[in-house]
Amino acid sequence: MANPSRRPLVAGNWKMNGLRASLAEVVAIKAGIAGAGCDVAICPPATLLREAAAEAAGSGLLIGAQDCHAAASGANTGDISAEMVADAGCRLIIIGHSERRADHGETNEIVRQKAEAVWRAGLLAVLCIGETESQRRGGETMAVLARQILESVPEKATSANLVVAYEPVWAIGTGLTPSEDDIAAAHAHIRARLAERIGTVAAATSILYGGSVKPSNAASILSLADVDGALVGGASLKAADFLGIVAASS
Ligand code: PEP
Repeated sequence: MANPSRRPLVAGNWKMNGLRASLAEVVAIKAGIAGAGCDVAICPPATLLREAAAEAAGSGLLIGAQDCHAAASGANTGDISAEMVADAGCRLIIIGHSERRADHGETNEIVRQKAEAVWRAGLLAVLCIGETESQRRGGETMAVLARQILESVPEKATSANLVVAYEPVWAIGTGLTPSEDDIAAAHAHIRARLAERIGTVAAATSILYGGSVKPSNAASILSLADVDGALVGGASLKAADFLGIVAASS
């Protein structure tokens, strides 16, 4: 684990999964995190945000959205704004997830605008970056990460309004993970590039690892230098699995 000044965060991204019955998992997660040594968040689909936030109110469990539009309101059919997410009782928003970048053509510039929107609404931005498989094969990983930080992290980022999530695209939902050395090297590189972008506050800014984290590999990944928690997809859908990862971070 990292610097003690950075409290770890374990955040679950439910993606397009979950009906109202899934709120039972939120209830179980809320009950299971008492005394956890990390912050814990769940990002359910938009349809469940309000009820999940009401369920989590007053507990240590944070509820967040998986995306937002950069504008506060307007003619943007199907989108939701950061203000709407805040109004639903949420505390954070994931932006720049590779599935948004790939499926919806989101560029670094769009992600930067979304970060500004998240802060305009007073929420925490969990900003995802990561290389594709072909970029890794081509030896471009570090250059890709540097460019994503330079172009998508606004200069006014602070450790209080930004968490970066390093998610190698090829590791998401595949069961594959980089070696521990590769994760540590990527996180050190991200922190150094972040320091060039936002200055000394980079030392206090959390950098999560995401990509096929599960209870069986969480402890070793979360113990690496500069890894300040995890962004978890598939293993966040069931409270028992997710709580196994939360326990590993403590
Ligand atoms: C994700 O989509 O952010 C993610 C990390 O997914 P998974 O844990 O399923 O690889």
